[in-house]
Amino acid sequence: MKIICIGRNYHEHALELGNEPPKEPMFFLKPDSSVLHQRHAFYIPDWSKEVHYEVEVVVKIKKLGKAIQLKFASRYYDEIGLGIDFTARDVQKKLKEAGHPWEKAKSFDGAAVVSDKFYSLEDLGKNVQDLNFDLSINGVVVQSGNTSDMLFQVDELITYISKFMTLKTGDLIFTGTPAGVGMVNAGDHITGKLEGFQMLNVNVK
Ligand code: ZN
Repeated sequence: MKIICIGRNYHEHALELGNEPPKEPMFFLKPDSSVLHQRHAFYIPDWSKEVHYEVEVVVKIKKLGKAIQLKFASRYYDEIGLGIDFTARDVQKKLKEAGHPWEKAKSFDGAAVVSDKFYSLEDLGKNVQDLNFDLSINGVVVQSGNTSDMLFQVDELITYISKFMTLKTGDLIFTGTPAGVGMVNAGDHITGKLEGFQMLNVNVK
């Protein structure tokens, strides 16, 4: 299983980090070893002083496909979850400046929180491009978004990614984060909702 993460897929978020909104999707990978399941706490790694949360809608791939045409893209997913793309922002900044890959900042153990529960679009009763989601820290909403604000829609992402790599059953696409990213601190309690359903519950240590 691989995790494909989309960078800068919400206009306001691209701007808040001083980036131009991209002209085509940009993505990077997280390995399966980065997945943090819900029963575990998130431990801030000792080599970073600035780990950021990024809440993202997660799309689960349900069958193998490569070079998927846009008109068929919606056949490759159905279940939607919620995740957090934890990012060691201080480390990422250095890597970006050096022109190096981002893996150290994005792919460490625990860096991909994935909800236990996934809902089918039928269960949600919504179009994939009309999903509300949010993240709260210690009970205060810090990020909220709607998938209608994506720069590149889910079907376009699937078409784009599958030009370069085969998508396999169970692969996860983290579809990008809306504005409002910020730092986590030891002792924080993070919760996240998708269409009103409680999806995430993480203690930071
Ligand atoms: Zn992200």
